[in-house]
Amino acid sequence: MSGKAMDMMPAGTTSGTPQVLLSHHLKQLKLPTVLREYDKVARECARDGVDHPRYLLRLVELELIDRERRVVERRIKQARFPAVKSLDTFDFTAIPSLNKMLVLELARCEFILRRENVIALGNSGTGKTHVALALGLAACQKGFPVAFTTAAALVHQLMEARDEKRLLKLQRELQAVKLLIVDELGYVPLSPTGAELLFEVLSQRYERGSTIVTSNLPFEDWTSVLGSERLTGALLDRLTHHVHILTMNGDSYRLKQSAGRRRAAAMAVAAEQNQATAETGDQPSTV
Ligand code: ADP
Ligand code: MG
Repeated sequence: MSGKAMDMMPAGTTSGTPQVLLSHHLKQLKLPTVLREYDKVARECARDGVDHPRYLLRLVELELIDRERRVVERRIKQARFPAVKSLDTFDFTAIPSLNKMLVLELARCEFILRRENVIALGNSGTGKTHVALALGLAACQKGFPVAFTTAAALVHQLMEARDEKRLLKLQRELQAVKLLIVDELGYVPLSPTGAELLFEVLSQRYERGSTIVTSNLPFEDWTSVLGSERLTGALLDRLTHHVHILTMNGDSYRLKQSAGRRRAAAMAVAAEQNQATAETGDQPSTV
């Protein structure tokens, strides 16, 4: 029977293999977990003497859990994170300047409900992007639509949209997300138009949605990126009105890790040499 023919058939008046029809109806109702699990759960329930309402309840609960997981996955995809990172893999002891309690509090995402902003400032490699990604992930898991971008990519996107006469649409999309993450403000100086467009996005979000900005530059140097003192003042005024500042100055985690790896490699080579020396009975030249 074709799908079309079945679509036209009133439910409950069909003949034929019930499994085939059930599968069709469950697909139409968008209940993939019920479809996948109903047989297995039925056998479990029969084995355990579970009655029909409880059988149905089990199935419906499984569908709800799966649905929530699918929604979170979709939100993560839509956020366009360059990588999925969480606070579980973040070593707070590596960056003592960072207020751990504040980060954990922010991960509860109440700042998003209050439409507050977060600015992470610090030199390169101190985990700013990692923390921003982790807060973004937490927001997705709590049900907020999120968008991740870098300042340079966002400005590029805005300029392109303006040239193609779809700036308004893009601005609306950017306004719609509850959390916008603008990473790496400061690495690339912006053109006057680029700075204006970025300013517009951030001021449109003012008190309407949360924004996380990360930068390697202290506030007093933002003018070098945005070009104009006036624009920088106006942007900081809006961005910092309701803000949590994450101070992330310290050693680069990347460099520390590669230094650690180099040290470990050097020690392994030394150990190998010592072993070779011991085996050949040669005296090591130095002690
Ligand atoms: P930034 O954005 O400040 O330049 P990143 O967040 O990109 O730094 O960090 C560089 C790399 O080091 C990333 O792979 C990140 O996951 C890792 N990293 C940085 N700080 C930490 C930390 N405290 N604990 C675990 N990983 C870290
Ligand atoms: Mg970064």
